[in-house]
Amino acid sequence: MRTPESPACARCAKALGKTCCEPRGTEQLAMLTHADVARIREHTGLPARRFSEEEGVTEAEAAHFETRWPLYRGYFRRGPVRIVLQARAGACVFFVRRGGCTLPSNVRPIACQLYPFEQWADGSWSLAVGRHGDLTVARAEGGACLAVEEAESMEEILASFGTTRETVEALGAQLAEEARSHGRG
Ligand code: SF4
Ligand code: SF4
Repeated sequence: MRTPESPACARCAKALGKTCCEPRGTEQLAMLTHADVARIREHTGLPARRFSEEEGVTEAEAAHFETRWPLYRGYFRRGPVRIVLQARAGACVFFVRRGGCTLPSNVRPIACQLYPFEQWADGSWSLAVGRHGDLTVARAEGGACLAVEEAESMEEILASFGTTRETVEALGAQLAEEARSHGRG
């Protein structure tokens, strides 16, 4: 969810060293649909090349991706190319260190709005990141989410982002529709 209103997001960089808006190594930021790009362009007035880039993948990778992340089914219909957010100086182009994301919540890519929740191939919902159970380990291994580390249950994680299962599922349905539309070109 990456919201400035979330107490965990506000403390994340200090507790874990990096937030989910600061990719490590070869990590990529959120994958975008044409609808995400259009929302961001309309809000910021920026051309797409200022905040996104295309990345080619193999046909096998595209097929695997759509199987593993069912909300993206149909995304690669027109070819094995995806659009991702651009990073600059180790962080998303919309990220500022003293405030987090500069985009309003409803303009952010749906993938960002959904994180750290994700849907699996069987339709069930859980978390995109593992729980290390120890902040030192989470910090050392990377890829952790402070809200996930601190909460005791899924309900607590949802509450820490001020959201509900219904809202997450509605965002998932929106992403699935926008991914299908993306694939139609
Ligand atoms: S990793 Fe989790 S707690 Fe940290 S900024 Fe991202 S969503 Fe918020
Ligand atoms: S768009 Fe906002 S929430 Fe998404 S990665 Fe960039 S800074 Fe983070």
